[in-house]
Amino acid sequence: MQYFCTLASGSSGNAALYVGNRARILIDAGTSCRYIRTMLRALGLDASELTDIVITHTHTDHISALPVLLGYTGARLWCSEGAWGELCRIAGDERPQAFSAGQTLALEDVSVRAFPTMHDSPGSVGYILGEGASAVGVCTDLGCVTPQVLDALAGVRAAAVESNHDTELVRTGPYPAFLKARILSDSGHLSNEACASLVEKLARTGTRRFVLAHLSEKNNTPRHAERAAHAALCRLGAQDDVGVCVAPRRGALEPVLL
Ligand SMILES: [Zn+2]
Ligand SMILES: [Zn+2]
Repeated sequence: MQYFCTLASGSSGNAALYVGNRARILIDAGTSCRYIRTMLRALGLDASELTDIVITHTHTDHISALPVLLGYTGARLWCSEGAWGELCRIAGDERPQAFSAGQTLALEDVSVRAFPTMHDSPGSVGYILGEGASAVGVCTDLGCVTPQVLDALAGVRAAAVESNHDTELVRTGPYPAFLKARILSDSGHLSNEACASLVEKLARTGTRRFVLAHLSEKNNTPRHAERAAHAALCRLGAQDDVGVCVAPRRGALEPVLL
């Protein structure tokens, strides 16, 4: 059985899991080692069974568990060339392996492709895991959807996509001006409206399951995010064929079977 699920999602920590026939791939390792091991155990897995860890970028909410977690697993650790230096600083320079742009990794029985994302962290990427009708895309932490992102995600069966904030809630919210500007910039985080537009475009290419991820605690609610995505699918007349859910901030998402 192949499946994908998120283990934590949002600025307090991000981690997700892809289970193939042989591969056990952790995508990002935010939160804490203890938390990730607890989540894995709930899914019947020990950290020592992880085959690979792929990192999207080196912001703390995506790598904070790594230094301790690496002591519990011999999993290979992967990142883009642009993120490699910083990952070595955090995780020691023996474990991280860098892949180059456009390279496809064969991780056990699963092919994994990275694609660049516009975000204020060097070498930031999203991932496609698996192939064809059973592929899942993971795409959070991006300020805007570039043609490269659309190209990479087109045709995936399921996609975890960032729906970070409601633009109006950011504008009227409590954050200082510099932080608002960062969130709203092209290298910050994706708004509900921009996410909904991505959902609409991907649904046209055949994506049938969306996980709305990395929601802001202060500038969004699951209801705001889901409403925007549903409205986009209704415009397309696809609301009955396409599933949308929100990744829990804490706790595992019900596995998406692939
Ligand atoms: Zn993040
Ligand atoms: Zn980030």
